[in-house]
Amino acid sequence: MSDLRDLYQEVILDHYRRPRNFCPLPDANCKAEGFNPLCGDRLTLYVKVKDGVIEDATFEGTGCAISTASASLMTESIKGKTERDAEKLFEGFHDVVTGHSTTAEVDLGKLEVFAGVREFPVRVKCATLAWHTLRAALARQTQPVSTE
Ligand code: ZN
Repeated sequence: MSDLRDLYQEVILDHYRRPRNFCPLPDANCKAEGFNPLCGDRLTLYVKVKDGVIEDATFEGTGCAISTASASLMTESIKGKTERDAEKLFEGFHDVVTGHSTTAEVDLGKLEVFAGVREFPVRVKCATLAWHTLRAALARQTQPVSTE
C-alpha cells in the first residue's frame, strides 16, 4: 500500500512540476475561472466543445500541488469525452476524493491517484476546484467559481 501511495505522489508531483495543457486556448468556446480561497488556488479553464464533445481543454493559474496536478490530469482525461461523460467522471472523482465511495462506478484511470486526498478533507477543495470550474465552463456560467 505504501508503494502505491508513493507512486500516487509521484504522479501528482510530476503533474505539478510539469503541468500538461498549461496554456491559453485561443479557439476555446467555453471558459471559466475558479478560486479556492481556503488555499489560494486560482485557475482559468479553457474548453473547446463541438457537438457535445470536448475537443480540447487547457488551463492557466497558480495553486498548490494538488490543485495544479488535478487540473492537469483533468484536462488530459476529459479530452475526447462528451460533456455528459465528463460530468460522470466528475461525479466518480468526487465520490472517491470525498470518501463517499472507495471505488468509483466509472473508470477514473489516472485520476485514481487522488484517492489519498480523502484523508485530508481540507485538500478536497484543491482537488475538485478544476472540476467545479469545468462544470461552470460547460454551463457557460460567467461568474467566477469559488469553493467557499
Ligand atoms: Zn490548494
